Amino acid sequence: MRRLSALIALIALGAAAHGQTFPEPRTLKINERVYVLLGPIQHANRFNQGYMINSTVIVGDKGVILVDSGGSDEVGRHIAAAVRRITDKPVTHVVNTHHHGDHYLGNVAFEGATFISSEMCRRMVLETGPEWLGIMERDIGRKLPGTKPLAAEVTYPEGTRTETLIHGVRVVFWVPRGSHTNGDLLVHLPDDKALVAGDVLVSRVVPTLQDGFVKNWIQTLDEIQALDVAHFVPGHGDLMTLRDVAGLRDAMLGFYSRVKEGFRSGQSEGEIRTSLDLSIWDKLERSYVIGRNINRAYLEIEADSFNE
Ligand SMILES: [Zn+2]
Repeated sequence: MRRLSALIALIALGAAAHGQTFPEPRTLKINERVYVLLGPIQHANRFNQGYMINSTVIVGDKGVILVDSGGSDEVGRHIAAAVRRITDKPVTHVVNTHHHGDHYLGNVAFEGATFISSEMCRRMVLETGPEWLGIMERDIGRKLPGTKPLAAEVTYPEGTRTETLIHGVRVVFWVPRGSHTNGDLLVHLPDDKALVAGDVLVSRVVPTLQDGFVKNWIQTLDEIQALDVAHFVPGHGDLMTLRDVAGLRDAMLGFYSRVKEGFRSGQSEGEIRTSLDLSIWDKLERSYVIGRNINRAYLEIEADSFNE
């Protein structure tokens, strides 16, 4: 009896791998072939074990295209198990939306698949992979000996939109000018009216500008709103509507404009921070990134001012 209740407790916590438990994703069905696995939204920690992103599962006639593979080999296998609950078709393609470790360090769990990213993402994975692995290990509090940064081989350059057919699904790989990072790739499924945006879209968490380009990002959000899309899949948080996208765009523009105003009137970053209306972001997860966001926007505006 005691063993039975222990077993039930384990199931309640989520699947176990190597003695570790992972929270289960919430599975959302967009249509017969597109599903979203909504992961936890907190920063990587020892409870979520580095599982804190959304993944999208696109089931084609002969195989699965998976967008974003998680923050470690174990998380990748956890996501693979969630995919198997949707379909028994194999994962043949894995798309990496950008080089932040929480989104792609799970690639190793899908060895043999075709990996796809932007050209710049591939470069960044090769350059920053070990550093990102170190960040994940620090945040979850243990080593990840089975995790290797695996860079995509099929890549697309900045400023391109490439339409292709994979397993009967029309897919557009869109690499906008660097927005959340210098190598974002968005997956547009025109026939499904869906856009998988990586962290260019986020809900319930503060957008992270640390590696970003604020002006480009606002521009990309404008372009996103021009698409004929009904289902916007963010990198973190719940599915978004067109109105949510507009809200994020307005928040980013308001933030950028106020930092710019502050810069022009000679205020320090600290002074700008106290003058900002951060009521939209303060209540969200990861509000600790706001200070760094101001710093990044400030530097971008300062660099731009030399070119004006
Ligand atoms: Zn990111």
